[in-house]
Amino acid sequence: MWEDSRYFWVVPCKNHWFHIRKNLFFRHRILLAETDAITPRPAIDTRFTVRCDQCGKEYLYKPSEVLRSEQEPAESFTPHPLFRDNESGSHPAVAGSATQG
Ligand SMILES: [Zn+2]
Repeated sequence: MWEDSRYFWVVPCKNHWFHIRKNLFFRHRILLAETDAITPRPAIDTRFTVRCDQCGKEYLYKPSEVLRSEQEPAESFTPHPLFRDNESGSHPAVAGSATQG
């Protein structure tokens, strides 16, 4: 069955000056992970950084800033590790990797 609505967890990019030049009335949203219309927000109890896929800037976000957005997926969409971990559930082989870029 074809779904024409796709839902994603997103955060608004905070680099307003970069995106306002491209689209005055649209706040760029950074995709974190795919979801659906009813799934509650993943339980996150810490602040986390997200890198914007367009301007490349990293910002710190609170869990309450995560929004559900109905939109098309980006061409090169990489799920945020925090959400990716939540989705895959039980994979005991995945040990903690605390490397930072
Ligand atoms: Zn941005």
